[in-house]
Amino acid sequence: MTTKSFNPPVRTLMGPGPSDVHPRVLAAMARPTIGHLDPAFVEMMDEVKAMLQYAFQTRNELTMPVSAPGSAGMETCFVNLVEPGDKVVVCVNGVFGGRMKENVVRVGGVPVIVENAWGDPVDPDRLEDTLGKHRDAKLVAFVHAETSTGVRSDAKTLVEIAHRHDCLAIVDAVTSLGGIPLKVDEWNIDAIYSGSQKCLSCTPGLSPVSFNERAIEKIRHRKSPVPSWFLDLTLVMGYWGGSSKRTYHHTAPVNALYGLHEALVMLQEEGLENAWNRHQHTHLALRAGIESLGLRFLVREESRLPHLNAITVPDGVDEAQIRQILLSDYDIEIGAGLGALAGRIFRIGLMGQTCRMKNVSLLVSALKETIERLRGTAGRTGAELASRRA
Ligand SMILES: *Cc1c(COP(=O)(O)O)cnc(C)c1O
Repeated sequence: MTTKSFNPPVRTLMGPGPSDVHPRVLAAMARPTIGHLDPAFVEMMDEVKAMLQYAFQTRNELTMPVSAPGSAGMETCFVNLVEPGDKVVVCVNGVFGGRMKENVVRVGGVPVIVENAWGDPVDPDRLEDTLGKHRDAKLVAFVHAETSTGVRSDAKTLVEIAHRHDCLAIVDAVTSLGGIPLKVDEWNIDAIYSGSQKCLSCTPGLSPVSFNERAIEKIRHRKSPVPSWFLDLTLVMGYWGGSSKRTYHHTAPVNALYGLHEALVMLQEEGLENAWNRHQHTHLALRAGIESLGLRFLVREESRLPHLNAITVPDGVDEAQIRQILLSDYDIEIGAGLGALAGRIFRIGLMGQTCRMKNVSLLVSALKETIERLRGTAGRTGAELASRRA
């Protein structure tokens, strides 16, 4: 047997991530690999850091990409900031809030959950009440843009409440960075993590994080060592930190970082606010198209994410079949519902490079044709449908 080179199909990525990667980013990643301590590489890392500070709107010294996907950025926050016995109030309104709770448990923290319905934003009053009842809480954690439901929570207000109760705030910005307004310094966010493959439109596998002085103080005063060697910020800082000499921690994913560098250069060229506006007005075009098909959004208008649209599955069609036809016949990927919403919604992403008017038109017409086709053939089995298409 001779295995051939892998050539992926060309898709339009309109799911919950990864989003379409621009040829400039792919080209940057194909440049020659150099040593991760090479002065030329170190200079590029400094630029990545400065551009991440811009994207996060922060002057935090400790701003860098963790060498692993968004989930590792999440773990970086929890393993460093939560000590055994620490009470952490976790706001849960979807899948990713649930994972934050899981992280607290794994590091020996005591989670206190603020439950919100899937499809609703985190309720600030409920957070306030919970913190009033748990005065020994040390941290508050919530998801800014809940990708599982397409909901935006009011990060600024939630952080204010956390601080009023002497808690540090950990914010999941995996899907919000580069897509919707996010101001780390102005909103006083203490610890934040994101991902490379959503609105930054880089390849998956890197997780930008940022920590302010208060968060670093908490880490410095830990009584027990950080339980993860790889994600221990006190060690990683030796490689990414300040102006001091870089020391070896792990081999940086050199070419992946070329890609992130290029994606951030493109964000800078466009301008952060222009990128936020592009996501908003492209969403409005999608909304018009979705409504013209008679379809409905899961989330109330005021808390909808522009770039992650949860749409209720129309009667008489099978959600999995819609996704399968869009992929096989139109090369469009959209996302399924997760957890309790599986089969009840599908999720249309308009993140980063995917967020273009041409993709809105493509998706709306493909969706229209697909739904008509499925309704016209209601009652047929998947196999019959497949043979009809063949
Ligand atoms: C995608 C996502 C993650 C996880 O990121 P990975 O890169 O898949 O590990 C975490 N939180 C939110 C809100 C996400 O959308």
